[in-house]
Amino acid sequence: MGFLAGKRAVVIGLASTRSIAFGIAQAMHREGAELAFNYQSDKLAERVTEMALSLGSDICIPLDVGEDRQIDAFFERLAERWNGFDILVHSVAYAPADQLAGRYIDAVNREGFRVAHDVSSYSFAALAKHAEACMAGRSGALLTLTYLGAVRALPSYNVMGLAKASLEANVRFLALDLGAKNIRVNAISAGPIRTLAASGVKGLRQMIAKVAETSPLKRNVTIEDVGNAAAFLCSDLAAGITGQVVYVDAGYNIVGMSFDTDAPAS
Ligand code: NAD
Repeated sequence: MGFLAGKRAVVIGLASTRSIAFGIAQAMHREGAELAFNYQSDKLAERVTEMALSLGSDICIPLDVGEDRQIDAFFERLAERWNGFDILVHSVAYAPADQLAGRYIDAVNREGFRVAHDVSSYSFAALAKHAEACMAGRSGALLTLTYLGAVRALPSYNVMGLAKASLEANVRFLALDLGAKNIRVNAISAGPIRTLAASGVKGLRQMIAKVAETSPLKRNVTIEDVGNAAAFLCSDLAAGITGQVVYVDAGYNIVGMSFDTDAPAS
């Protein structure tokens, strides 16, 4: 029996088989969870429905997290199928394309800042408001996905780094509020992975090469690596863990400097 047997998990943010949400859903399915999904727009409906079926789920409900009406409607429709759930995964981020290239100081503007924070950070709290009631009487777990740009400056990630910093603070404030209801809230800070969203960041190829060269594990992480950690964090095996940002990045974030000590000294 898997360690998520008997759990119901809502996974927000599935777009393709490369999505981190897909790696998470696969791991949760393997460990015995029942799954429900959203799709952001009609364009994604067919593809997400097929992926959901491959994971044993026929629950796919439209949801653009930028609209409160759609969030309300999503949970109303979900309630027609489930009388509650145990896990909610938020694997969603967005910033306008012009925000993710060039110097931060040149690219950032009021609208780009607003949209990035609204879709990538506020939406987690908006979903948590609904999840609180749906997780009553269960041992609940909320999980979101963040990136090193929340705590370190790097090229091109720009305003998304600020939005992720806000998201990580969101994790801590939600964890404090929801702990008394036995709901845990955590984030995974994943290393760079080539997905649809990540491809929008100029220089992704260089980021991936840098991690392979510099990280302690000398490789990049996969959606399976992130999925397995997510399944653990949302399970009762992680019952004592809340308010944390857990790095699944081949150790890249702990390195201060890396060079070849066998090279001739100069
Ligand atoms: P992805 O493109 O597969 O997934 C992003 C998802 O966000 C898509 O399903 C998209 O539909 C959804 N989305 C965007 N705006 C939305 C909106 N308004 N309403 C509803 N859904 C919306 O890319 P991914 O890399 O799997 O991204 C998932 C999460 O992982 C994001 O939070 C991302 O920042 C984070 N992350 C990614 C990486 C990486 O390198 N890929 C690294 C660290 C963190």
